[in-house]
Amino acid sequence: MEILWLIGGAFILACLYYYFLPEDKLDEKIYGKRKVEMICPHCQTKGKVHTKPVTKKAGVSGGKATAAILTGGVSLLAVGLSRKNDMTEAHCVNCESTWTF
Ligand SMILES: [Zn+2]
Repeated sequence: MEILWLIGGAFILACLYYYFLPEDKLDEKIYGKRKVEMICPHCQTKGKVHTKPVTKKAGVSGGKATAAILTGGVSLLAVGLSRKNDMTEAHCVNCESTWTF
């Protein structure tokens, strides 16, 4: 049963870590590195777009993929090791748009 304590401990540590991160760093943690040269295609604001590499299972719906990202890839493991696409997810912190390319 030690594994449960390990998982619980890691979860609490992760929560504390996120809680004490400054907001800018938190954005980078969630949405990836800020791309200062990138212009948001939705609101045309420069320097507010974060990008990160994501792996998407082929044919997965947007909602499921978002859930996978929100849970830090845990669901990706849960849905199995089927065909995946390497993509880049971009998020604009100005207009809160998220898109992949
Ligand atoms: Zn935007």
